[in-house]
Amino acid sequence: MLVQKFGGTSLANLTGFVASAHIISRFAEQERVIVVLSAVAGVTDLLEKCIDAAASGSDFSAALKKTLERQRSVLLALAESGTLAPLAAAFLDSRSAQLNSRLEGVRLLGNCPDQVRAEILSSGEGFSSRLMTDLLLGQGIKAHWSDTHVLPPANDDWLDTLIDQDAAEAQLAQLLSDTNAHQVQVIVLPGFYCRNAQGSVQLLGRNGSDYSAAAVAAATGARACQIWKDVDGFFTADPKIVPNARCLTEVSFEEAMELSYFGAKVISSKALAPLATHDIP
Ligand code: ASP
Ligand code: MG
Repeated sequence: MLVQKFGGTSLANLTGFVASAHIISRFAEQERVIVVLSAVAGVTDLLEKCIDAAASGSDFSAALKKTLERQRSVLLALAESGTLAPLAAAFLDSRSAQLNSRLEGVRLLGNCPDQVRAEILSSGEGFSSRLMTDLLLGQGIKAHWSDTHVLPPANDDWLDTLIDQDAAEAQLAQLLSDTNAHQVQVIVLPGFYCRNAQGSVQLLGRNGSDYSAAAVAAATGARACQIWKDVDGFFTADPKIVPNARCLTEVSFEEAMELSYFGAKVISSKALAPLATHDIP
């Protein structure tokens, strides 16, 4: 079992989706893969902007239009290349209407309750994960989209919860055995959010998809958790700021924790504990 996570910058456009799908399928020929995805680049920030506009009583329609168009542009590019994306298209359609009514509610209320914020912000991962599933299925790969009820939250924090690892272990074992029976090669999961026993969304904190992937890897005893990014790896300093920063070929869990705790954005600090405790490379 291999867990692979792709971040938003790797999913900025169709080219990014196709390149990521190529990497996934290369590994899926050899082993079972669980893929965890972030939202299309910038979408979570745009959704935050929609909420801010609505909560301040302003017109959120321009922000919402921009958010939906960012995602629809990938669907359109895919359609032009002759591939349909039925899961992603249906999701975006129904979610657009729902977002509009939720945001209208927020505007009338003058604030956004955390539970509603969580549901709105999870939309980006809902879309990208379905699109990747469509893409893999279109390439003849047996892919299966799963929702995140398999990652039960450990507390009732709406915006920055933790995953209940024991519960996730049981849920994922069930999912693996069900999908195994259907020869599924790739399971695709949205990152960034859990679903509680009532089915409500709870977020894992901003940049939480790394943590989703780490928790899945720990709960399934994966041989590795790969965090695919648009940079080569851990650097001795932020290469965008320090031009002669060096890429590290190897980094211990402790060093990685220290770097991410002190601000290295390359991996979310929350992601390292499940990997370290289960010794997953
Ligand atoms: N899309 C979410 C965010 O921007 C989660 C993630 O990318 O990891 O915070
Ligand atoms: Mg990220």
